[in-house]
Amino acid sequence: MSGVDSRSVTVRVPAKVNVQLAVGGARADGFHDLANVFLAVSLFDEVTVAPATRLTVTCEGPDAHQVPLDTTNLAARAAVLLAERHGIAPDVRIHITKDIPVAGGMAGGSADGAAALLACDALWGLRSSRAELLAICAELGSDVPFSLVGGAALGIGRGEQLTELPVGGDFHWVFAVADGGLSTPAVYGEFDRLNEGLRVPEPRASKALLDALASGDCTVLAGALANDLQPAALSLRPALRSTLDAGLSAGALSALVSGSGPTTAFLVKDAQAGAAVAEALRVSGTCRTARAATSPAPGATIL
Ligand code: ATP
Repeated sequence: MSGVDSRSVTVRVPAKVNVQLAVGGARADGFHDLANVFLAVSLFDEVTVAPATRLTVTCEGPDAHQVPLDTTNLAARAAVLLAERHGIAPDVRIHITKDIPVAGGMAGGSADGAAALLACDALWGLRSSRAELLAICAELGSDVPFSLVGGAALGIGRGEQLTELPVGGDFHWVFAVADGGLSTPAVYGEFDRLNEGLRVPEPRASKALLDALASGDCTVLAGALANDLQPAALSLRPALRSTLDAGLSAGALSALVSGSGPTTAFLVKDAQAGAAVAEALRVSGTCRTARAATSPAPGATIL
């Protein structure tokens, strides 16, 4: 970033994978009740804010051209919402260094929203409490509170009512990044279509999964990973099956679609297995690129 202001604030924020995503039937308001077990992973965006005469957003990174630079950007919305609460003008220059895949089911936009909120709060000297920041995050979107908190957490309601979870060790992952995104509303729409006329059970967190996270045992976690949106994502993007198969053939312990996709996530036993699975995925021709990462990662942090 050129011309960094001495009063700028930079926040680093992680991507997430849903190790369990249990989805209930459509509610009257169109949302779905969820039992959503989030795990933050070590793919990060950085958001820098600096004083300016008006609100602007710039973005750099391989997917930068897909990121809106107007007030629909979640980082800009976060700045506007926080400024409104305090009766001040959101005159700030926001720069996003984007490493989280865009529209990939890894909550990249939500991450930038949480990061901008924390950064603006510090830049403007507002000293908002954690509870105030979390309330604004929930207003910005269902996945935004988790981006602030990081680590691991169970989200209920739309996924925004969080309880932090213990994690007993590091887990190693590979993420296969697909060409093009999948729209989260389209995936939920397909979920509704596939479940039409069926009784969708109440979403509940799996005890086996929570125990696996707490124990830090990757073999047990591999057997407990579950994503109710996976059939819908695969229905909209059948080619993702080949990606899942390629990672499993290369030695991943388990594979699933990350959130609403189309990123696919592979749990591996250690960093060495991660490097091998990532390389096999890259040469398989079934994805655009593959990235190794570890979890849990910390939530939004001022650098
Ligand atoms: P989730 O996992 O929370 O469903 P996602 O990872 O699938 O989200 P995002 O990367 O958050 O998807 O992007 C979804 C859409 O949000 C993008 O297509 C883009 O139009 C919009 N968007 C708004 N702000 C941002 C941002 N800062 N970064 C990326 N996308 C953004």
